[in-house]
Amino acid sequence: MVNTIEVRNVNKIYGNVVKTQVLYDINLSFEKESFNSIIGQSGSGKSTLLNIIGTLDQPTNGEVIIDGVSTKEMNKNQLAELRGAKLGFIFQFHYLLPEFTALENVLMPMKVNKKPITKDVLARANELMNLVGLTDVKDNLANNMSGGQQQRVAIARALMNQPDIILADEPTGNLDSDTTEKVYELLREINRKFKTTFIIITHDRRIAEKADRIIEVKDGKVNVDIKK
Ligand code: ADP
Repeated sequence: MVNTIEVRNVNKIYGNVVKTQVLYDINLSFEKESFNSIIGQSGSGKSTLLNIIGTLDQPTNGEVIIDGVSTKEMNKNQLAELRGAKLGFIFQFHYLLPEFTALENVLMPMKVNKKPITKDVLARANELMNLVGLTDVKDNLANNMSGGQQQRVAIARALMNQPDIILADEPTGNLDSDTTEKVYELLREINRKFKTTFIIITHDRRIAEKADRIIEVKDGKVNVDIKK
């Protein structure tokens, strides 16, 4: 199996005066096309780890290697380019723009990067709206959609630049259990259909148990790592 992400000897210490070590010598490899869950108590270091994997935050020492390339010496622009080319992010709070429609929100990554909305781009956005089951409401303002619908808009948006890897931090944290189930089925479908690698932080045991792998982080260390 080919690995897409390698986390090597990652430590994270926050603060200069009062130092708090949050991650201790983390070593993890993630296989291409795999569906991984990260669980653990609040404050155990999960988000810090995911942000470091996604190059949104730097480790204090150690490194993250993505598709064989170390991100350690990359500058801000190189990291932004790498994220744009390979990574998609889904957060618990989806950060949609409330005064824009669902479709406009999905197109937002293109607008932000000043890329033209070509026919193909629009077709892709519409295809993604269909995939997430929102075709009928794609012209509604994000503000007027339910929590589950908004989260599906955020998922479509994360898919817009065809990322190889999706990192999700409690993507169903504020949804009811039925909607949670549906959102996970959708993520699984995306994993199978597009061969997208997923790393998902979740507090929902049922969801974690459906993943190919469960990693439990405890006090900044990998406590359990089960592959099915
Ligand atoms: P989890 O996602 O498991 O809840 P986090 O990674 O968010 O855990 O946080 C781990 C620890 O690091 C917590 O004690 C938190 O307070 C601390 N922490 C997180 N971000 C910062 C920061 N920017 N500065 C200082 N401490 C932080």
